[in-house]
Amino acid sequence: MKVAWSRALPADPSSVTVIRASTGKYYAGFVVALDDDAEMLPPAEADTGIDLGLKDFAVLRNGKTIPSPRFFLAMERRLKKAQRRLSRKQRGSANQVKARSALAILHDKVRSRRDDWLNKQVSAIVAENQGIYVEDLCVRGLVRGRHARSFHDQALGQFLARLESKAARAGRSFAKVDRFFPSSQLCSACGAITGPKGLEELSIRTWSCPCGVEHDRDENAEMNIRREGRRLAQVAAGSAETRNASGEQVRPGQPGAARNPR
Ligand SMILES: [Zn+2]
Repeated sequence: MKVAWSRALPADPSSVTVIRASTGKYYAGFVVALDDDAEMLPPAEADTGIDLGLKDFAVLRNGKTIPSPRFFLAMERRLKKAQRRLSRKQRGSANQVKARSALAILHDKVRSRRDDWLNKQVSAIVAENQGIYVEDLCVRGLVRGRHARSFHDQALGQFLARLESKAARAGRSFAKVDRFFPSSQLCSACGAITGPKGLEELSIRTWSCPCGVEHDRDENAEMNIRREGRRLAQVAAGSAETRNASGEQVRPGQPGAARNPR
């Protein structure tokens, strides 16, 4: 069988699993043992909070934004169309089989394109930042209400999961800010809760605090997430040290600050 390698194997594999996907494609997955520090990166200077956007995909430090890729929407439309086409076919017919396989092929294409895009974003963030602090995704779920579980939301979930595991493997500190932390309502200048709240004020992009500071909604939220994330990472690092001192074992490769506090 001809093989198209997605990337070189980092070490000799101990086993391989071949899977036939519903698209008729075959995939080979290898088990490879790696050293704990195989993906460690040299220390970076900066750290960043990540405000998951509604307008943009994410907002990073200094107002750096990752725009939502245009192909998300296009792909979602194409998937819906293919699903509709399948649902109109007669049960057990040859046309139904055809439509089902067309849908599976499209799903596959969408997944690999999205994965590719996500991996690029995650790699860049992990390479540039020593500390990475995010908000809990549940918050977005609540905010979006009936629009929940869109293609975009699924991508956000995968983005966070990959970010967390890659950060751990690279020796970065990572913290998830509590879902009740009011990242967009807190004034990052004076600490008062004076920002826009809830669903009805979702469209407010800039606001002024009575303390006199004017805020960009997302940049202010990023700053709050970054500060809270730093605090959480420090707490985690402190408790890991205490555990170490008392002789308790700390698992290597654990995500978060325990592995590399600075
Ligand atoms: Zn203020």
